[in-house]
Amino acid sequence: MCCESKRRFLLLYATQKGQAKAIAEEIWQQAGAHGLEADMHCISEMDKYNLETEKDPVVIVISTTGTGDPPDTARKFVKKIQDKTLPPDHFAHLQYGLLGLGDSEYMFFCNGGRTVDRRLQELGAQHFYDTGLADDSVGLELVVDPWIDGLWLALKEALQLQKEKEDMNNAVSSSLSTGPHAVHELKLSSEVQNLKLEDEGARGSDILSQKLDDINLVAPARDTEPSLVHSVPPLSQSALNIPALPPEYIEVEFQDIQGENPHLSSLISEGRTFEVPVTRAVQLTREDAIKTALLLELDIADTAFEYQPGDAFCVICPNNVSEVEKLLHILGLSEKGDDFVCVKVKQGTKKKGAVCPQHIPERSTLKFILTWCLEIRAIPKKAFLRALVECTSDAREKRRLQELCSRQGASDYTHFIRDSNVCLLDLLHAFPSCKPSLSLLIEHLPKLQARSYSVSSSNLYQPGRLCFVFNVVEFPAGPSRPVSRKGVCTGWLAELVAPLLHTSKNSQGTKGEIFSTEKVSIFPRPNNAFHLPADPSVPFIMVGPGTGIAPFIGFLQHRQKLREEHTDWEFGETWLFFGCRHQDRDYLFKQLQCFLKNGTLTHLKVCFSRESSTAEVAPPKYVQDVLRLCAKEVARVLLKERGYFYVCGDKKHMADDVSDAVVDILSMEMEADKLEAMKSLAMLREAKRYLQDVWS
Ligand code: FAD
Repeated sequence: MCCESKRRFLLLYATQKGQAKAIAEEIWQQAGAHGLEADMHCISEMDKYNLETEKDPVVIVISTTGTGDPPDTARKFVKKIQDKTLPPDHFAHLQYGLLGLGDSEYMFFCNGGRTVDRRLQELGAQHFYDTGLADDSVGLELVVDPWIDGLWLALKEALQLQKEKEDMNNAVSSSLSTGPHAVHELKLSSEVQNLKLEDEGARGSDILSQKLDDINLVAPARDTEPSLVHSVPPLSQSALNIPALPPEYIEVEFQDIQGENPHLSSLISEGRTFEVPVTRAVQLTREDAIKTALLLELDIADTAFEYQPGDAFCVICPNNVSEVEKLLHILGLSEKGDDFVCVKVKQGTKKKGAVCPQHIPERSTLKFILTWCLEIRAIPKKAFLRALVECTSDAREKRRLQELCSRQGASDYTHFIRDSNVCLLDLLHAFPSCKPSLSLLIEHLPKLQARSYSVSSSNLYQPGRLCFVFNVVEFPAGPSRPVSRKGVCTGWLAELVAPLLHTSKNSQGTKGEIFSTEKVSIFPRPNNAFHLPADPSVPFIMVGPGTGIAPFIGFLQHRQKLREEHTDWEFGETWLFFGCRHQDRDYLFKQLQCFLKNGTLTHLKVCFSRESSTAEVAPPKYVQDVLRLCAKEVARVLLKERGYFYVCGDKKHMADDVSDAVVDILSMEMEADKLEAMKSLAMLREAKRYLQDVWS
């Protein structure tokens, strides 16, 4: 995969959902224009590279998954470098640059990258370039783009140093081998920018210096506000730097054959899938609640599916049928939906190492691909916008798409595409002269991911059943979105179980099973830490507002059953902090009272954030407020009784607000300053006694 004559560097990626791989491919692609050759491998392909003997600089792109874990593909690698018997100079010969991907709304931001970075440092490896940590919550590209821009100069210097070392190797003492290496600031220095411009100029230019009057696109004076389709000065009059056009590499052939689409299990690499019936569906919220929460019960009795309370599992979900139809229509392929297609790498493509995306089956119909394989709702990346420019005939639309993928239009991209959750269909609606090909969609749309849900039941309490709770995600119509939409998975599930919901409302209060033919395909996603304490006598605190209560219902059901079955055991006290907007509309599990009555739950603290109160002292609104009111008890459970603390639910604000409250509580009760309290919380996390399961 590597050409000897060019200056080589090793490029490793560790990906969970494909982003780190896509970024590595971008680096690989750009390398040629800088006179370099990236020898690229997935970090799991440990037979294809050897860091122990690697002389060239190494670039690592690595994402983070779960609660701060490296991706599954990096597990073996991490295990290998974590080996405690390795000497501190094990990687003293190694120069590397690392780009970590993460999401700062999760507690352990970029922990996958940080873990590898820290360990490589401990083993003597040296940075030739500062580590970049890209944050998906604000846009990976904000760090990724400048990091890649700066990488080339750093790589060239590292390679130059290496060459000088090699030249002098025989004559000079080993002190050189530990000499200082250039470490570059991540921020774009003017030097780096100049280099990029020169390099880009040299390869026939991907800079579009296009003055507005060239294409005579002056914004009408009345449109003073920018929008998805419209820009205002200075952007509308600016020369643009747009990314290089990604080379096409896929071709699609329609086949005149009959057959069956692949089984859904073949789309999943994470292990065994189970197709199970939905046996019950309950709407937990009233019609006038802001969000609709549903509880679904699945029948797993005849399967080998196993779980523990606290685990999550994944639902394989399809795209919305009418969106698929619309896309087929726009592609001009409405008649071909049921035709089998063969997806191949385009002969003579300029994309290096091009391979067919693994999430596209070898033989399936066009509809199957658009329904089950491609995330058609994905927010289009700049490279995709760049490619769409070439499929757009209207000059105004073309210019706007160029702006949106340009460096100068970065904030418009963030505002009108990213933050507005714009998807391909929204774009095709807003830019009607844009007519992409099917192959372009296959090149740019990511894999449709299965969605995770926390199990909300106990296998002891309800053998053969698995329950989960979710809010139906709603995207309201807006300036960038002509129609309102529901979340891909939650919208599909809500539609799937609508007939069941109807039945369960009519038969309220009656027992017995409601017959259902609806099935969903699921697979396990065990959680290594978010489980009940192994010792039942240990007290624990659960904090789960909204649907965050889901796993705790499983915990409590399990605990209730254990109490019934083991009357001689000692059980620690249990606390539950729950919050919702309104007592009458979205108090999801009123049966919590039963757990309280039968002693399974020792303390139940509930708060309502939108309830008006006439009380002199306003009642607490949020779970963190109630926690503060219970400071002494919380501190007692955590510090004196070595109890556990679980937080589940919204990652955006709640999880941070709760940990801030716990820091305040610890600081107050320990009579220590905030730093000490933060250290104590860090120790609790380390000891896996402060556990989080949070999602957006
Ligand atoms: P999608 O189509 O994927 O859309 C969701 C995306 O849209 C998110 O990026 C979100 O930030 C954004 N979004 C949401 N609302 C809006 C809006 N109004 N406007 C603009 N953007 C918006 N969810 C549960 O409900 N219950 C659970 O028990 C649960 N457990 C989870 C456990 C784990 C380990 C993980 C990782 C996630 C869990 N989730 C849970 C989240 C769940 O996996 C899905 O992300 C969620 O149900 C939405 O899926 P969807 O396909 O319907 O939405």
